[in-house]
Amino acid sequence: MEYRQLGKTGKKVSVIGLGCEHLDKKPYPQIKETIDAALEHEVNIIDVFMPGEEIRENIAKALGNRRDKVMIQGHIGASDVNQQYDISRDLPTVKKYYENLLRLFGYIDFGMLFFIDTEENYRDVFETGFAGYAEHLKKQGDIKHIGFSSHNPEMAIRAINTGLPEMFMFSVNPAFDMLPSAEYVFDHFETGFGTELFKGIDPKRAELYKLCEQKQIGMTVMKTFGAGKLISQEHTPFGKPMTIPQCIHYALSRPSVACILPGCQTAAEVQEVHSYFESTENERDFTEILNTGKNDFKGSCVYCSHCQPCPVEIDIAAVTKLLDIARLDKSDIPPSIKSHYMNLKHKSDECTKCGHCEERCPFDVPVIKNMEEVAMLLTN
Ligand code: SF4
Ligand code: SF4
Repeated sequence: MEYRQLGKTGKKVSVIGLGCEHLDKKPYPQIKETIDAALEHEVNIIDVFMPGEEIRENIAKALGNRRDKVMIQGHIGASDVNQQYDISRDLPTVKKYYENLLRLFGYIDFGMLFFIDTEENYRDVFETGFAGYAEHLKKQGDIKHIGFSSHNPEMAIRAINTGLPEMFMFSVNPAFDMLPSAEYVFDHFETGFGTELFKGIDPKRAELYKLCEQKQIGMTVMKTFGAGKLISQEHTPFGKPMTIPQCIHYALSRPSVACILPGCQTAAEVQEVHSYFESTENERDFTEILNTGKNDFKGSCVYCSHCQPCPVEIDIAAVTKLLDIARLDKSDIPPSIKSHYMNLKHKSDECTKCGHCEERCPFDVPVIKNMEEVAMLLTN
């Protein structure tokens, strides 16, 4: 297992965690075998968004005395009024469901402001007592960190800019990244993503990724496989289905992403997802897929590392990620970006301009020019 820091929470999470949503309504032995398998693979973060009492109890029971071996994302506002999964902003209802979660797990590591996708969601969370409740929970030590969940880059940017959340869960995969932010991802689950809509990485999503790096907001990822559509022959929006290692590698190579939370529902599925660690670089490479849609990535780095190896061992994707953030506002580059850069083993001024990277880059990124700009922006 590999572990990454989840932004400014300082917590080290396993790059593959477990989303428990598909365990809902499953028999206890199946829940237990799935959780056991995840822990055997050294998973240390799980998402429990489901509001149902039975599934929550079964997860707590399956964890048993291993509660402290995992960090839990628990969602504030998830409710199941009338046995239906729902979003509630009504404080007495919200408290009832959250207190039940706290009773079962003792404390929650990441208290998530649940589902901020629309203007209305934003107002209901930040302009009522809802966010204050999360702050109260944190003050009491019931939750360790405040986070939120969203599928909408515009709303995620606004939520981050309130200064309250320290981390968040977001839907990340190549199809969503290329969907214009004016399109709502859920509208495309049933009808298909429609490659005619794709045109390179949506600028709002790129802005979100950069903002996260700038403010050190760690991201956990849902919908890594686009609800299974990206890996399906029938539903893929690309020329061919992606593989599990390609989807995982894509998500893990986005800025600020600390882990993915795949919704496995059996031990075999856990095993399948963790086979990512045995995959080769070639098997993880997703660039060919990105080139099958009507995409316009020319000149923009997608951090795929296809350009490696560099003879002087510059980590080109990592350096370019920092450059892209610095470019956001050249007059006010965050000190953390410069110090990140200074901590890299090999700096861009070591570039010999051999051009090997540019020959290999599928997106015609002007790497040599970028390395010169990095030296200018990040070393002064
Ligand atoms: S420069 Fe090109 S090959 Fe290298 S990480 Fe960026 S997009 Fe990928
Ligand atoms: S041009 Fe520079 S960055 Fe690219 S491979 Fe050569 S030394 Fe590395």
